[in-house]
Amino acid sequence: MTASGWRGYIASKDGSVTLKVTCLGSGSSGNSLLVQADGHALLVDAGLPGTRLASALKERGVNPGDLQAVLVSHEHSDHVSGLDVLCRRYGAPVIGNEHTLSHMRKRAPRLEYRVSPTGSARSAGHFEISSFPTNHDAADPVGYVVAAGGARVTVATDLGCETPELLEAASLSDLVVIEANHDVHQLLQGPYPAHLKRRILSERGHLSNNQTAEIICNALNTRRQTYWLAHLSRTNNTKDKAVQGVVRYLANEGLVTTVLVTERDRPSLVWESSTPSF
Ligand SMILES: [Zn+2]
Ligand SMILES: [Zn+2]
Repeated sequence: MTASGWRGYIASKDGSVTLKVTCLGSGSSGNSLLVQADGHALLVDAGLPGTRLASALKERGVNPGDLQAVLVSHEHSDHVSGLDVLCRRYGAPVIGNEHTLSHMRKRAPRLEYRVSPTGSARSAGHFEISSFPTNHDAADPVGYVVAAGGARVTVATDLGCETPELLEAASLSDLVVIEANHDVHQLLQGPYPAHLKRRILSERGHLSNNQTAEIICNALNTRRQTYWLAHLSRTNNTKDKAVQGVVRYLANEGLVTTVLVTERDRPSLVWESSTPSF
């Protein structure tokens, strides 16, 4: 693996570009995050229907044909189901690592694919993009760090456990989008079959609220950080349990930070890097 790319961006603080992040949807019914920087835009995952994604972009003044890229975290359908329609119709390039893109080439052969090895860095418009490995039951899953104007967002929504790469990326970021998939008690008492419960609880499954809280504790830095809890299970979690669980855990450690929760089925949170003072 090459040296993680985002470390180099810390020095290149350029307050003239504002980084803006919008959650278009997050959960097992579809994940997509819009990242903008002064007229440039990209998506992290395209797991909502392509036509819905195109409408959501247009409503926010983004021409889908002008997308710098769609970054793919892994090949599960809740992250890629809209990719073919969106990128075939509007021509946006798809970025991911070789294993993930080899799955996508079979499902959507006519798209423009650009391979980006895990851990490498690349530019697209105003953005500097790098990825890091995550533990999840997909071919070669990754999280992403997207930087512009000296601000950084980390996105890691499907993972079964904490990893050093995730902690480093999160601790260097201003906004961290991280999953809080389930409440362990609610999952264990719930209707899922035993094999599915085992899969979700495994190190290659999904994070519980407590695991997410522990990661936030370990990643929290002295910057003014914001954490978005994402990819909540409809069956095995609630927004209140996720937020309260994390905030309580942090309070027990004497820590405070901004913790918000994304909506599953509709666009919700918007974050902007702070306006530079002149
Ligand atoms: Zn997944
Ligand atoms: Zn997912």
